[in-house]
Amino acid sequence: MFRIGQEEIDAVARVINSKQLFRVNKGNQEADNFEKELREKIGVDYALLMSGGTGALIAALVGLGVGPGDEVIVPAYTFMASASAVLAVGAIPVLADIDESMTIDPASVEEKITDKTKVIIPVHICGFPANMDALKEIAAKHNLFILEDACQADGGSYKGKRLGSIGDAGAFSFNVFKIITAGEGGAVVTNNRKVYERALIYHDGGAAFRPYTGELQEPVFMGTQMRVSDITGAIMREQIKRLDGILTDLRAVKKKIMDALKDVARFIPSNDIEGDCGTTLGFNFDSEELARKFSAEVEGSWIPFDSGKHVYINWDPIIEKRGGHCDAVNPYMMAENALLNKEGANADACPKSLDILKRTVYVSLHCDWTEEQINERIDSCKKAFAKL
Ligand SMILES: *Cc1c(COP(=O)(O)O)cnc(C)c1O
Repeated sequence: MFRIGQEEIDAVARVINSKQLFRVNKGNQEADNFEKELREKIGVDYALLMSGGTGALIAALVGLGVGPGDEVIVPAYTFMASASAVLAVGAIPVLADIDESMTIDPASVEEKITDKTKVIIPVHICGFPANMDALKEIAAKHNLFILEDACQADGGSYKGKRLGSIGDAGAFSFNVFKIITAGEGGAVVTNNRKVYERALIYHDGGAAFRPYTGELQEPVFMGTQMRVSDITGAIMREQIKRLDGILTDLRAVKKKIMDALKDVARFIPSNDIEGDCGTTLGFNFDSEELARKFSAEVEGSWIPFDSGKHVYINWDPIIEKRGGHCDAVNPYMMAENALLNKEGANADACPKSLDILKRTVYVSLHCDWTEEQINERIDSCKKAFAKL
């Protein structure tokens, strides 16, 4: 969360005063309007607001027709939800290494592809755009879908296109740790009507009985409940107005610090620094020892290996193959998955990623830092580099 205030309070009051808290009553409500604004912002034909980013990933995979018998390639460094979403639809996650950009390494992706692979999930982690050109080339060559996990990259871009609009589908999160937020929330975006309709049906267990049911081209199947109330829609309409301002200011802070440190620092390489969200500044070191020495000197800095839940070796339910609440729905136990690569998320799957995560240092940035706060970071980084 970066900016929130009176506008969001007024928006919530508006919904409560309207007494229309359910979003699917009559159309043209807050959530519908947010979806329209999100479509325009991201540059896609379809957008679906829902209860979270994990749900958005799951609904997008359902939209793409992924299920038992399919392998999905996921980076070893991401929030666990990128991989758990794959299990939620009955498929098997196979991990690929990251490269020094901290995003999925296209060369590693190619190594993990089998004749069972159906989707690649690049994650724009910490707002760093993944190498979409290389991934699109691989996906085209092997006839795979790309689902962008843009949960940490709301509004970011790659070569002039907004993240989430480049692959076959994209997922955003609006939980409280993300760039824009309603406390919880998420969205699927796509240009593919079938993917959108299937995600819509899946996310609304009442899809058989809605005002929109008659317009569906896809047959209604049984889904679940990932809808939001119209309060979420109202908050997100205010948040999306703030999005580009937040990104502009984050990028300006990042650029100022990078310019000041360019002679002493080795920044993590970027696949597109213009499109980078600017939430996180990263430095690369030759060894873990140097990274730890540097990090100890810089207040507010941290080593991504230490973040725990984003590092695959800590994803216990996945490592231990507890992929569902009982054996019959655990993808690791399903007959359809018997011949798949079920060892693709073992603890020893991606040692190269662990090495990179240990010798990288992050500084989290804020769009509302004063000149003085920015200079403090610059000075403290300069001193820490001088001490190495
Ligand atoms: C936050 C996050 C998610 C999940 O989002 P929720 O809204 O918490 O469900 C998925 N992937 C990544 C990379 C995330 O950071």
